[in-house]
Amino acid sequence: MLTKELIAIEEKYGAHNYHPLDVVIEKAKGIWVWDVEGNKFMDCLAAYSAVNQGHCHPRIINAMKEQAEKVTLTSRAFRNDQLPLLCKELCEMTGFEMVLPMNSGAEAVETALKAARKWGYKVKGVKENQAEIIACTNNFSGRTISIISFSTEEQYKDGFGPLTPGYKVVEYGNAEALEAAINPNTVAFLVEPIQGEGGVIIPTDGYMKKVSEICKKNNVLLIADEIQSGLGRSGKLFAYMYDGIQPDMVTIGKALSGGAYPVSAVLSSKDILGVFNPGDHGSTFGGNPLGAAIARESLKVLVEEKLIENSFELGKYFKEKLQAIKSGYVKEIRGRGLFIGVELKPEAKGARRFCEALKDRGILCKETHENVIRFAPPLIITKEDIDWALPKIEEVLTTL
Ligand SMILES: *Cc1c(COP(=O)(O)O)cnc(C)c1O
Repeated sequence: MLTKELIAIEEKYGAHNYHPLDVVIEKAKGIWVWDVEGNKFMDCLAAYSAVNQGHCHPRIINAMKEQAEKVTLTSRAFRNDQLPLLCKELCEMTGFEMVLPMNSGAEAVETALKAARKWGYKVKGVKENQAEIIACTNNFSGRTISIISFSTEEQYKDGFGPLTPGYKVVEYGNAEALEAAINPNTVAFLVEPIQGEGGVIIPTDGYMKKVSEICKKNNVLLIADEIQSGLGRSGKLFAYMYDGIQPDMVTIGKALSGGAYPVSAVLSSKDILGVFNPGDHGSTFGGNPLGAAIARESLKVLVEEKLIENSFELGKYFKEKLQAIKSGYVKEIRGRGLFIGVELKPEAKGARRFCEALKDRGILCKETHENVIRFAPPLIITKEDIDWALPKIEEVLTTL
């Protein structure tokens, strides 16, 4: 079946909660994907950074196949032989003491929010139902009702009320605003060290360090949402490492499975995750042996193939080459590692048409926040691959 027919079927039978580019992908390998017509594209979105290890990485697919033939799901009513090793390996890799596994990113964030509230009541001594959590303007942490309750994107909330109480929002990048919003009921501050969906926004130097100090001083938990920025995307294991800080909780997901399966987790200390007792929280699929085996291999690939280092080096190269392009449309090019945003001026009339034009030249990107083109290819990309893409990007940015 060809592109038009498949799109028509999806439009008829599938809910319209996305506006995808009209490319129907049939297979993928590494940084490349192929559509049903046989056209080949470089993937510069990497499924919102879930495919950091590259599409269908042979080692990850092999781990998946081997585990799928043994046991896929036990539920947490019983134990399995993969989850303990995933937890241990994650702790050794990240320096945290404990892991709570979930599936989607939103579930990991919900888990961190629940842990923070319970910690507030049981440890900090906040009065029942008074806990407050502070988030940032322009945040993205998922689509559950509680998470959209602190979104500043009107569309994400419109029609979904009543919203969950207990959240405050302060300006991203403004540490004084955080300090002013804290009161004795504040239990946590949730922040993305780099805002991905918000348009690859990097806060000013020193911001993360300052908010970390403010949280410590006020006995407020610092939760870093690294679901997109983490696991090498920013050129370090976690984006918060640029600031030399230690958050109390970190949420991860996306690339934790190399895009092969939904796996997410909360990383934290015994003191904090220790607030959960049996029965407090759970998930049928969370911590399942198939997901755990895939995640273990995905983390090994990240380290053994030096993908974090590659992201750092080639991210710098890619960004510098993009910055050298002389285009009247470009307002700013920013990024860390292979997490790059090209912000366009209003006269460019939106990033969407640039993404369409890039698609026609064999590069898949997605606009974020109307005016930003995000370049976030799999971290296995080579300098030669980037050199292949650059003239096409230049053509689009200068002649459209
Ligand atoms: C994608 C994302 C999420 C949500 O993850 P899902 O798997 O889509 O639920 C949360 N936080 C950040 C920073 C993200 O980029």
